[in-house]
Amino acid sequence: FQTRTTPGRHFLQIPGPSNVPDRVLRAMDNPTMDHRGPDFGVMGKMILDKVKKVFQTESHVVIYPASGTGAWEAALVNTLSPGDRVLMCETGWFASLWREMAEKLDIRPEFLKGDWRRGAEPARIEEYLRADKGHEIKAVCVVHNETSTGCTSRIAEVRAAIDAAGHPALLLVDTISGLASMDYRHDEWGVDVTVSGSQKGLMLPPGLSFNAVSAKALKAADQAKLPRSFWDWKPMIASNATGYFPYTPATNMLYALDTALDMLLEEGLENVFARHDRMAEATRRAVRAWGLEVQCQEPRHYSSVLTGVRLPEGHSANALRAAIVERFNMSLGNGLGQLNDRVFRIGHLGDISELQLMATLSGIEMGLRIAGVPHKPEGVRAAMEYLTGNA
Ligand code: PLP
Repeated sequence: FQTRTTPGRHFLQIPGPSNVPDRVLRAMDNPTMDHRGPDFGVMGKMILDKVKKVFQTESHVVIYPASGTGAWEAALVNTLSPGDRVLMCETGWFASLWREMAEKLDIRPEFLKGDWRRGAEPARIEEYLRADKGHEIKAVCVVHNETSTGCTSRIAEVRAAIDAAGHPALLLVDTISGLASMDYRHDEWGVDVTVSGSQKGLMLPPGLSFNAVSAKALKAADQAKLPRSFWDWKPMIASNATGYFPYTPATNMLYALDTALDMLLEEGLENVFARHDRMAEATRRAVRAWGLEVQCQEPRHYSSVLTGVRLPEGHSANALRAAIVERFNMSLGNGLGQLNDRVFRIGHLGDISELQLMATLSGIEMGLRIAGVPHKPEGVRAAMEYLTGNA
């Protein structure tokens, strides 16, 4: 749906939903099948097995017909009880929303304050947990790739911090925008619940979300008293054993998932991650060459999914984005919450090539000029030099 006719393809360079490859769109364009019939179980089992590879887990991966927000809720209501204390880290807008959700669910989140310019800090988590001598904190919740800022949290180090404190809290991680773009290891990093969504690195439309569930989390679910029905893991896992779902699954989205997983595995996850790292480095070089500032201040926390860019004082990121969509038919991400109008976000995730990235950066460089944002017109060249090996 478009309100106006514009030649050429729309450039969807927000940090998700990302561009859906034609091969995935074609997979969706197949007749919906009987979700209780014999073929479905075969397909269901195949997909449920295959999806584990991108989470790098041998555990159950539950698939919901819901946006990522639903999978956030599922992670909380399956593992916690009313009044439980949980530790959350203020990495940005999405971490703040997850915390608000916890409050609405009658959980008691405690928020480690952050400045939205870096990921979670393992040392502070360790210190906080050490002080909790009675082990009242039941879970630590961290956003792996904070989509509002372009900062990542180092999950293996968070795990190590929890272990160093000798604390039994569950580790719940949101990698809604990190999965299948950046390395993510549910099992090796000792994550108890991984939350993800379809519309980012998985290159699907919005509409599916996921919980990868450790044995410890499943055990916690036996004790957890928060009310749950739709989100309950147990009937899901029971039906999934034969490839079926307890309620009508999003059949055509599963066709899409099957194809997207094939594409990721054909490229090879290592290569997918390396491609994203490269896109992100080229983008950061462009931003610096423009004389602008990257929102993430900690190089170890740079996201390979998106880059948040700060505008000089007195200039509007929203006006810049409006000029770019109007003139070049390209969408960029807006600044969320306290970053509204201060920051714009470049999505470089999912189905993206070097040439698509260069077109994106060209659109931004032209947009900076049109919108009158002070900059040096050197960003595109810096990215090209990096990508062609002359940096
Ligand atoms: N968490 C993160 C890190 C996100 O990027 C998003 C969406 O962009 C969400 C949670 C919420 O997911 P959804 O909008 O699919 O409900």
